[in-house]
Amino acid sequence: MARVTLRDVCKIYPGGVKAVDRVSLDIADEQFVVLVGPSGCGKSTTLRMVAGLEEVSSGTIEIGGRVVNDVAPKDRDIAMVFQNYALYPHMSVYKNMAFGLTLRRRELGLSKSDIDRKVREAARILGIDGLLDRKPKALSGGQRQRVAVGRAIVRDPKAFLFDEPLSNVDAKMRVEMRSEIKKLHRRLRTTTIYVTHDQEEAMTLGDVIVIMKDGRVQQLGSPLEIFQHPVNRFVGDFIGTPPMNFLAGRIEGDGDSVVFNEGGARLPFYGHLAEAARAYRGIELVLGVRPEGLSLDAERARLGAGADVPREALPALDVRVTLVEPLGKEKDVHMATTVHDRIVGRMESHVSVREGEMQRVFVDLRAAHLFEPGAMGRNVSLPMTQEAVRAN
Ligand code: ADP
Repeated sequence: MARVTLRDVCKIYPGGVKAVDRVSLDIADEQFVVLVGPSGCGKSTTLRMVAGLEEVSSGTIEIGGRVVNDVAPKDRDIAMVFQNYALYPHMSVYKNMAFGLTLRRRELGLSKSDIDRKVREAARILGIDGLLDRKPKALSGGQRQRVAVGRAIVRDPKAFLFDEPLSNVDAKMRVEMRSEIKKLHRRLRTTTIYVTHDQEEAMTLGDVIVIMKDGRVQQLGSPLEIFQHPVNRFVGDFIGTPPMNFLAGRIEGDGDSVVFNEGGARLPFYGHLAEAARAYRGIELVLGVRPEGLSLDAERARLGAGADVPREALPALDVRVTLVEPLGKEKDVHMATTVHDRIVGRMESHVSVREGEMQRVFVDLRAAHLFEPGAMGRNVSLPMTQEAVRAN
């Protein structure tokens, strides 16, 4: 097991595409790190450079304290699990799992019985010990994926690299495999780098998640830190379902009062949002509110505004309900203001709202952020500690 460090790593593909742009990561021993971002953001290229399957254009990669830029993939002591499993179709599960070790048996100083023990142990951990004689074509997608993981485990590598390993399995199996991979990591504690485009998968798996866009790291932190303190609008939008709502408006108010003018509707700000917004009076900003922060319940909003704030002075929007989507325990309520035609609130299913009616929806400022305009607009309402994280 080992620490994996990337320093100012860049990848420029022939033809000039800058796929990875000065990525620096310090992945501690035993950590589970997820690289996540939209398609084309450079996450697979980053992983493939760690694996040695792509050359590094500049910067250094260290595995276990050794710079591996010029080390061949097979000598990096890592194991990679791919999206397409890459199993040998003519070999049994047993042979697929044993193959890599058998090939290098002398070099690794392993006896046949060592290999047999490793294969059976890994198969037992993964619950595929009853399938060792089968060929891959006689397995389900989930079972094939387990074989691919098993083949990685038997090598006892310094690090596991997973490249979208669950995108070819169905939704239910994906959720199951996700928790299996997490349990496996709890058990083996092998340093893991996992690539996915699925933010929910990233949130549930990672000790640390790294959000990438256009080859760059946008933010790095625990899932909760990133959810609560997105450094920019892109991150706020990318993490969380349904996504954060974004309302353009202007900061107004005088003296102590700070108000957000949303197309004529005036939302008073309190607490951290008021403090952050004070310096922006007269300026257009974007209010980001999580769907959970919109509710018909004034008390929720009062928790975010202050216990002594009267109902009529709570931040709220007059909306028309355009669609109600029941989800079981909760429902998504789609709403429109005079200037924003799609705002989504996630509310308890017992809340009474009907399509077509007018409602006053309260904004819980604890679930709100202020961003500079533009798709990559900076979050100007972060607590100081998060500012420090961003500066790094
Ligand atoms: P992701 O895994 O986040 O979807 P990739 O790392 O696969 O992104 O790709 C990042 C960028 O590099 C994309 O613009 C992609 O088109 C480009 N790219 C990937 N592989 C190659 C290649 N072999 N040659 C040229 N460009 C590539």
